[in-house]
Amino acid sequence: MHRATVAEVHVSNLRHNVQALRSLLQPGVRLMAVVKADAYGHGAGPCTRAVLEAGADTLGVGILTEGIELREQGIKAPIHVLVGIFPDEANELIQHNLTTTLYSRPLAETLSQRAGRLGKDVGVHIKVDTGMGRLGVSPDQLPGLVEYIAGLNNVRIESLFTHLSSADDSDPEFTQNQIAQFQSALEQLQAAKFNIPLAHCANSAALLQFPESQFDLVRPGIALYGALPAPGLGSVADALTTVNKSFPLLPVMQWKTRILTINSLPKGSPVSYGQKFVTSRDSKIATLPVGYADGLERLLTNRMQVLVRGHKVPQVGTICMDMCMVDVTNITGVQEGDEVVLIGQQGNETITADEMAAQADTIPYEILCGVGKRVPRIYLP
Ligand SMILES: *Cc1c(COP(=O)(O)O)cnc(C)c1O
Repeated sequence: MHRATVAEVHVSNLRHNVQALRSLLQPGVRLMAVVKADAYGHGAGPCTRAVLEAGADTLGVGILTEGIELREQGIKAPIHVLVGIFPDEANELIQHNLTTTLYSRPLAETLSQRAGRLGKDVGVHIKVDTGMGRLGVSPDQLPGLVEYIAGLNNVRIESLFTHLSSADDSDPEFTQNQIAQFQSALEQLQAAKFNIPLAHCANSAALLQFPESQFDLVRPGIALYGALPAPGLGSVADALTTVNKSFPLLPVMQWKTRILTINSLPKGSPVSYGQKFVTSRDSKIATLPVGYADGLERLLTNRMQVLVRGHKVPQVGTICMDMCMVDVTNITGVQEGDEVVLIGQQGNETITADEMAAQADTIPYEILCGVGKRVPRIYLP
C-alpha cells in the first residue's frame, strides 16, 4: 500500500531517450549518462540499470556517496564523480573503483599515495575551466598540471573535460568560444605528446544545439529524463523538435495524486492560510494530499494548474505543507478519489516539468530534483 501521491517513473521512456540521444552521436562517440541527484529525482538505482541496458557507456554522479551507493547496488560500469572529492575521501573513491574530477596538485598527490598504498590505480578526469568559473584549472596552468599528474604513480589520466555555462542560450557566441578554448587546450596537450584518451564537454543543451561539442563523449542529464534544459528557450525547443521528428524525447516522470475531498464554498469564501484566494462565485474546491513537504513549491501558490478529468484547473490558495487546493467548479462529474496530474498527461492535456518550472520561476532540473522523498517512486516498465 502506498500513498495516493506518487511519482511514476516510465522506465521505457528513459530507455527510449537514451537511444534518441545516441542517434544524434557521430560514430564512436560515447555517452555518459548523468544520474546525479538520485537521477534528477527519478531514483538512481532503477534509472541507472535502465540507461545501461539502453546503451549508456558510463555514468556521471555528483558526489562520492552517490557513486558508492551505485557500487553497493552492484553497478559495475565506470562511474565518474563530477564534483570531485576532498583529499580525505581518496581511499573510499579508490576502494569503490570510482573516478574523480581533478584540477589541483594536492588532490593528485594524495590520490597517488593512497592508490599506491592500496595497490591500485585511480582514474582521473582533468577539468579545465573555459568560462564557467566553478571547477577547473585555467588553460594556462593546464600543461603544468598535466605534466605533474603524468609523473605520478598509480594515477591514470582518463580524460580532459570542461563544462559549458551557456549552451542553452539563444546566442551561441559564448559557447562557441568555450568550445574553441577547450579545443586549443586539448591540442596543446596533444602537441606536447601527453596521452589524453578522451575529451568531452557537452551537456544536454550542447548535445542538442552544438554538434561540434561532441568530441569523444557526451554527458547528457536533463534530456535523458525528457525535459528541456531551460524553459521557454526557442532555439532549444527547436532543437528538440528536430530531434522529435525522427525520435522524440519522452518525459519520464509523471507526478500524480488523488482528490481527498471536495468542498462546496459559496461566493466570497477564503481558501487556505492568509486568505490569498477568495472564491469569486459559488465554487467546488478540491483538496489534494500534496504540499511543499512533497516538493510542491509554495511559490507556485495561485500560479500553477493541475489536470482533473482531462482538463486544466487552477490551484488556489496558499500551498500548505501536506495539502493544496484546486478549483474544480467547472469540471462536471468530479468526485473524491479522482486522479489528479501535477506533471504528466491526462486525456488530451499535458503539463510538463518545463511548464511547472516556468510558473515557479525556475528550471525543470529543480522541479524534478525537488520532488520530495516522501513521494514514492513507482517504476513502470
Ligand atoms: C550536471 C552535469 C551535466 C549534465 O547536465 P544537463 O544540463 O543536465 O545535461 C554534465 N556535466 C557536468 C559536469 C554536470 O555537472
